[in-house]
Amino acid sequence: MEDNGKKKDNRVINYLRLSITDRCNLRCTYCMPDEGIDFMPHEDILRYEEMLHLVRLSVKKGIRKLRLTGGEPLVRKGLLGLLKQLNDIEGLEEITLTTNGVLLKDLAAGIKECGIKRLNISLDSLKRERFARITRRDKFDQVWAGIQEAERLGFDPIKINIVAMKGVNDDEIKDFARLTMTKPYHVRFIEQMPVGDDNGWKAENFISVLEIYSIIETIGKLHQIEARNILDGPAQRFKLEGARGEIGLIGALSNHFCALCNRLRLTADGHIRGCLFSDDEIDIKTPLRNYEGDEKILELIDTAIKNKPLHHNLHLSGIRNCARRMSSIGG
Ligand code: SAM
Ligand code: SF4
Repeated sequence: MEDNGKKKDNRVINYLRLSITDRCNLRCTYCMPDEGIDFMPHEDILRYEEMLHLVRLSVKKGIRKLRLTGGEPLVRKGLLGLLKQLNDIEGLEEITLTTNGVLLKDLAAGIKECGIKRLNISLDSLKRERFARITRRDKFDQVWAGIQEAERLGFDPIKINIVAMKGVNDDEIKDFARLTMTKPYHVRFIEQMPVGDDNGWKAENFISVLEIYSIIETIGKLHQIEARNILDGPAQRFKLEGARGEIGLIGALSNHFCALCNRLRLTADGHIRGCLFSDDEIDIKTPLRNYEGDEKILELIDTAIKNKPLHHNLHLSGIRNCARRMSSIGG
């Protein structure tokens, strides 16, 4: 049963974000609390062979791009073996990884050998002490070393994700943008989202991509870059004149890109989500573990694609939380 993932509204759902663990070696204030976290029981987390099977079925339903995320994907043991096997799946055109970079320096070469060419690395501050305040762990040096190693190994592109927050790191927006003058990085500013019950979201910390744009504009002329292909993400892309790298703006809240959203999410405990902001989920782990057959799972993936909401309702109903934390959905 082959499929191109096309929905009635003409969106092509071809991108799966797979969270391989909800564990993490950082505690970013906007993502999870420092302590008292109810992590998923180990037996609830999909085994690698289960993930591989579900990815193969998703490919039959039109998935062409896969991103591994978490929690922190690099903390799960045996990651390289998983990547190697994912890379052998016919029909998957692109595999990428989002990481906080803490363990990247040592793992980057192995990741590259598994055929991964592109990386997203999260980094909310270029200042060591501030990084430690935001992530509650003093790991800036390790992350920076991981980014340098990824660059040395030729990952292209290296996307640096910054969750922009007023009064927290907005004074570094220009510094991050200037980084693209000397480095080939794609620096991407993301609006902070109210996901998870204890996400620390406050209106006074919110800074929109429009405001970020106007701050960056003061340091140089921004040229817009058009999306290259159907697997491209929701970032509006720009280049400062003469820059080596790019700037991306991801306005999850202020700028509705739902009509362009091509993603499904699979949580580490085997639930498919059609929208980051909607708690509607379909459990595909239970039928998998109950041996209900591939046809049943394909049907459920189909339902998730068909029921993918056309809009998230954050702007309609004011700010609402999703029950799951970002770390258990995967961003
Ligand atoms: N641990 C990895 C990392 O941080 O890159 C992968 C998982 S993390 C949940 C994926 C992405 O979600 C990261 O870029 C992170 O900054 C972003 N993120 C987490 N919570 C967020 C929030 N409340 N608003 C916006 N982005 C968020
Ligand atoms: Fe961990 Fe990533 Fe969440 Fe930070 S954003 S706590 S690095 S999962």
